[in-house]
Amino acid sequence: MSPPIYVTRPSLAPLDEYLPYLESIWESGVMTHNGPLVQRLEKDLCAYLDVPNVVCVANGTCALQLAMRALGLAGEVITTPFTFIATANIIAWERCRPIFVDVDPDTWNLDPNRIEERVTADTVAILPVHVFSAPCDTAGIQAIADRHGLRVIYDAAHAMAVNVGGCSVLRRGDVSAVSFHATKLFNTAEGGACVTDDDELAERIRRMRFFGFDARKDIVDSGMNAKMTEVHAGLGLANLARLDEVRENRREKYELYRALLSAREDITFQGYAPGEYNYSYMPVVFESEALLLRVMDALAKEEVYPRRYFYPALNTVGVFEPQPELPVAERIARTVLCLPLYDTLARGDIERIAKLILSV
Ligand SMILES: *Cc1c(COP(=O)(O)O)cnc(C)c1O
Repeated sequence: MSPPIYVTRPSLAPLDEYLPYLESIWESGVMTHNGPLVQRLEKDLCAYLDVPNVVCVANGTCALQLAMRALGLAGEVITTPFTFIATANIIAWERCRPIFVDVDPDTWNLDPNRIEERVTADTVAILPVHVFSAPCDTAGIQAIADRHGLRVIYDAAHAMAVNVGGCSVLRRGDVSAVSFHATKLFNTAEGGACVTDDDELAERIRRMRFFGFDARKDIVDSGMNAKMTEVHAGLGLANLARLDEVRENRREKYELYRALLSAREDITFQGYAPGEYNYSYMPVVFESEALLLRVMDALAKEEVYPRRYFYPALNTVGVFEPQPELPVAERIARTVLCLPLYDTLARGDIERIAKLILSV
């Protein structure tokens, strides 16, 4: 029998492309504190994304936290229930109240038509997620934010290398928080970044990630330790050189899955505009949870392990205050499955997985 197949594996540059960065660290003796590799990664990411400011941090959760802190948010934050737990956790962790609003049945992202009915005098921000890299309706969301004087922070953990209207989706809203975790399209093992067009906000986030010190080491702000290390930045530089290749590889595999699975009418796919997707995940929605469970059983017998990203819908999770039912998000969360997708996954394995699914 072939070796087990899990939902993902990290995309890694060949080791010999990483080693020169490690050698430079051993030579300089600089491991962290905004060292030369972090500075270079930020500069290269600005160029790659065509954005004015990238502030690299320890992980994507820190990026969200720093964005909230730097904007001084206190109150209710409107967000999506169809996301990874980190999104809502950090809102509560920052002593704000997550208010969950239902999602669009096609894109699975926060539905702008449902936001305004939940805006109150205590609402301070909207925190949408470009889930699985499909861009939110950023214009619709910004119009509501402008009407009510709200901040917009995008959880853009999945949204590296996604352009909308010829420009990176990370430029929408006040700040975008990206994750460079090992499971994401672009990774530094652990890592993340805040991306913003606002130079002053970027400077504030830079201070806050470094105990509140300014460039002259004067203590000028509150802060914590959210620095990225040189070891992580070096891996990022090696992986960034391969990012377009990785994205293209996943696009081909995504499209192969999709072509094979379209034979089944009880399977649907996420909606996105052509070109506005990075193919980092292979999410499929089944007609029923029972069918999803039967498919998982059939795959597990062959040691193929997809994941129920994202289940359950966060409005049903007990750690947050009681929330109203959100039928669209709850249905998608119950019936969505992310199939294995990564660069070293063989086309033959995709054909085998699709055949198994079609046979259920
Ligand atoms: C991965 C992820 C995060 C958290 O990123 P980390 O780098 O793991 O802290 C936040 N939100 C979403 C939607 C994610 O998938």
